[in-house]
Amino acid sequence: MANKEDIFKKVISHAKEYGYVFQSSEIYDGLSAVYDYAQNGAELKKNIREYWWRAMVQLNKNIVGIDAAIFMHPTTWKASGHVDAFNDPLIDNKDSKKRYRADVLVEDYTAKIEAKIEKEVKKAAKRFGDAFDKSQFLATNGRVVEYQKKINTILKRLGSSLEKEDLADVKALIEELGIVCPVSGSKNWTDVKQFNLMFGTKLGASADSAMDLYLRPETAQGIFVNFLNVQKTGRMKIPFGIAQTGKAFRNEIVARQFIFRMREFEQMEMQFFVKPGSQKEWYEAWKENRMKWHLSLGMGEENYRFHDHEKLAHYADAAADIEFRFPFGFKELEGIHSRTDFDLSAHEEHSGKKLQYFDHEENKNYVPYVVETSIGLDRMFLAVFSHSLKEEVLENNTTRTVLKLPAVLAPTKAAVLPLVKKDGLPEIAHQIVDDLKWDFNVTYDEKDAVGRRYRRQDAVGTPFCITVDHQTKEDNTVTIRHRDTMEQRRVPIAEVNELIAKEVDMKSWLGKM
Ligand code: ATP
Repeated sequence: MANKEDIFKKVISHAKEYGYVFQSSEIYDGLSAVYDYAQNGAELKKNIREYWWRAMVQLNKNIVGIDAAIFMHPTTWKASGHVDAFNDPLIDNKDSKKRYRADVLVEDYTAKIEAKIEKEVKKAAKRFGDAFDKSQFLATNGRVVEYQKKINTILKRLGSSLEKEDLADVKALIEELGIVCPVSGSKNWTDVKQFNLMFGTKLGASADSAMDLYLRPETAQGIFVNFLNVQKTGRMKIPFGIAQTGKAFRNEIVARQFIFRMREFEQMEMQFFVKPGSQKEWYEAWKENRMKWHLSLGMGEENYRFHDHEKLAHYADAAADIEFRFPFGFKELEGIHSRTDFDLSAHEEHSGKKLQYFDHEENKNYVPYVVETSIGLDRMFLAVFSHSLKEEVLENNTTRTVLKLPAVLAPTKAAVLPLVKKDGLPEIAHQIVDDLKWDFNVTYDEKDAVGRRYRRQDAVGTPFCITVDHQTKEDNTVTIRHRDTMEQRRVPIAEVNELIAKEVDMKSWLGKM
């Protein structure tokens, strides 16, 4: 496949063509940054959610899951700081009339310098061969050190001006760096302004009694306001966690990256309540744990990295992102935040209710500290989907498009294919489907030559094809074909279930954590 842009286009068109993601309300020309999950997408999304939920809730004795409402009392968002501070700095280009996030323009600029560093590293690795020591090279190569210094200086200044809300300096930085609008190519920028990302709506029928509400911009607050209810009814002892998956809504300024940045999306969050003073330790432990979860899917260690935040959100005393190598470069996939006692204390203050924990060992009450892990389900979907899409040149010089989804996440685990549509083969194939369907999502396909059917299943990401042929009638065996290796083996029908189970079983995947 060619350049990054082409790869990303291919990802989007493949997602549509194979029933994964459609634009919302497509017949009305779509709705910007809103997407629908199609028949295969809904299954993949459900499997990712399940993979997360099992790792978080089922496998941890001290983590429980809840499902809070999207609507919350409006004071929630005053207390959380979202009414006053959930803003993005926006800037318009006067020539193209395009709107950008000012911080993203600057970060894209530094990403370009980073790409230069990567290029130097690649060149040097080639030159030095086995003797190449990457960390030494990064620390000593004059050009690379200069690049890195430049990046650090820019990001530091951006961070501090945003923190001080010095928007004039953010604009000055954009001008000094000579950043141009990617559409018009001009430097004709407006001032930088703050823009609140929450969607407002109303509760109640009559105009005068209606109450202004927000659609939740994060799921976390549903956990905080239920902290004491869960702690008491579940008799939870600190440290413990509350997990939740669900929709969140943000009126994103710029949303041009398919399901990477949506206006309606789903989060999978876990808030871990700890004793004050122990948050650093737990923060490090959760960083490590979450990275292990990602790596268990086998999508390559080199495709993940941590990015520690310079600029901390109003609630955090430490924060890092797990970044993934998307088709458009390394970008945030998950955030791990040490949120201190900010949220619980703020809710205490605004509600007038105590949100404290009585620690029997210490014999005292305190407001727990919180370490949060927060991942976008849709972003995770994009990570898995884009990484899995491959175009392979085969031995006979033809190409095949294959979606090498981790088998545990694949929407359909097996396709059962009668070699021909007669001689009783479809009946046997249907019988196999009926046996397997209690344990796995399976499908039946009898249309076209079997080679074409294999290709179709490759493209949709089905890990196994089970072919019923004339020999099946004689000895009750079928061929089972593996999507990734294309290897075919003859096995008794009675063994098929176990063979599939071995490769798609969550236990064997999550067990790698
Ligand atoms: P970004 O900097 O990309 O806007 P964020 O730092 O605002 O993200 P958080 O508030 O930390 O994101 O949200 C946690 C996670 O939720 C993110 O890591 C991301 O995976 C997901 N997420 C946030 N905003 C969106 C969105 N608009 N569309 C899809 N997923 C999102």
